[in-house]
Amino acid sequence: MSSSPEHIVAIFGGAVAGAEAAEHLSRLGIKTVVFEQNPLPFGKIEDGLPFWHIKLRDKEEEKIIEKLNHPNVHFVPSTRLGNDVQFNDLVEKWNFSAILLATGAWRDRPIPIDGIDAYIGKGLTYQNPFFQWFNHAHDANYSGPTWDVVDDTLIIGGGLASIDVAKAVMMQTTKDALSQKGIHVPLFEIEKKGPADILAEHKLTKEEIGLKGCTLVYRRHAINMPITPIPEDADERRIQKAMEVRQRMIDNLVEKFLFKFVECHMPVDKIISDDRLSGIVFQKTKIEGDRVIPLEGEFSEIRSAAVISSIGSVPEMINGIPMKGSTFAVADWETGQLEGYDNVYLLGNAVTGQGNIKVSRTHGNFVGNLVREKLQSQPPLTTEQMASIFDKVKTRQAEVGYDGDLLHWATKHTPVRLENLEA
Ligand SMILES: Cc1cc2nc3c(=O)[nH]c(=O)nc-3n(C[C@H](O)[C@H](O)[C@H](O)COP(=O)(O)OP(=O)(O)OC[C@H]3O[C@@H](n4cnc5c(N)ncnc54)[C@H](O)[C@@H]3O)c2cc1C
Repeated sequence: MSSSPEHIVAIFGGAVAGAEAAEHLSRLGIKTVVFEQNPLPFGKIEDGLPFWHIKLRDKEEEKIIEKLNHPNVHFVPSTRLGNDVQFNDLVEKWNFSAILLATGAWRDRPIPIDGIDAYIGKGLTYQNPFFQWFNHAHDANYSGPTWDVVDDTLIIGGGLASIDVAKAVMMQTTKDALSQKGIHVPLFEIEKKGPADILAEHKLTKEEIGLKGCTLVYRRHAINMPITPIPEDADERRIQKAMEVRQRMIDNLVEKFLFKFVECHMPVDKIISDDRLSGIVFQKTKIEGDRVIPLEGEFSEIRSAAVISSIGSVPEMINGIPMKGSTFAVADWETGQLEGYDNVYLLGNAVTGQGNIKVSRTHGNFVGNLVREKLQSQPPLTTEQMASIFDKVKTRQAEVGYDGDLLHWATKHTPVRLENLEA
């Protein structure tokens, strides 16, 4: 049997982390096959990062396409691991030299209240489907989850993403309330100036347009919000400064976007009326070091028109891939190696636990390099093994109507942009 000194690595998820690993390997002569569940490989850049970050979105999406548009990268769109390709088949029958899972974190951490998820769509939604919809609500061809943004929404959260949810809700409800008065202001303008200044320009108050505003509830203090990093080796003075910055940021956002911020309250029970979620019972907390301590007997209710939960994202389960609790079963958290599999690695959001572009990119590069080094001591694939992989790849590409021209494909599938509609 003849052999060629070549390896082929499968990568699932072609966004920030997956594209980075693909570029690293392809530059060094290793072929990759990048399977992506959606037509376009943009992940949270397209469906998470709020649409008002136009420059960042466009820059990151261009980078992803540039990285995947390499002769050593074979892109397979609209192909979902766990549905269109099964993990066990992949490991047993495809013969890839290594398998990288850059599939992100698309499952919202559930609110720890028994039975509350029965009210999804009946007053409750989570941050991932919310932004997936909010970023594309203006697109007539959009077919994903939907949501009605209403005034007096309660948001449970604490990270940067929960602030984005509060901003989005205030932008949309301000726009809708102004429209009722015959005043039409584009969402981009509301985001830039903030609802407070927009209302001032029109000599109106929140009350005059009938807006209560949304409420963001966090179980810790504003100064504990992970919205500015604090280095592990920071001294007392540095920690103090970072906390002051955090407090100022929250105060400014509340003033500019007109939402309410409630700290030191954790959700403990649901309030249901007419078979809809109509509020949450909270318990007051105190913070001691890293610990959140519920205060005995200190309960209060916040009633609301709707609830959006934004308390973190964890990986979606994929048929056949071992899990430990809410994460994949990882043997080594630094390398992202999957327990029980020598040549299967997780990268980016799927394993870092951090929703950050730079962290995903750095980890994608790190794992790409690690796999390249490992493959040097691994026997290359035979010509027959390679041909068999490429036969399967071509068959799947044909099934999904992809002809190998990534630039043309990306242009054809570019979503409708709100900035073009509002311009
Ligand atoms: C509201 C919000 C605001 C944010 N703001 C910022 C910010 O200001 N700055 C910043 O740095 N970061 C921000 N982030 C985080 C940042 O967008 C992400 O951390 C980063 O884009 C993640 O990249 P990734 O490649 O690791 O994962 P993802 O982008 O999730 O990519 C995973 C890819 O895998 C695909 N996939 C998933 N499952 C499968 C499967 N079974 N088979 C095949 N393909 C699959 C997905 O379609 C996706 O393309 C924000 C995120 C959110 C939600």
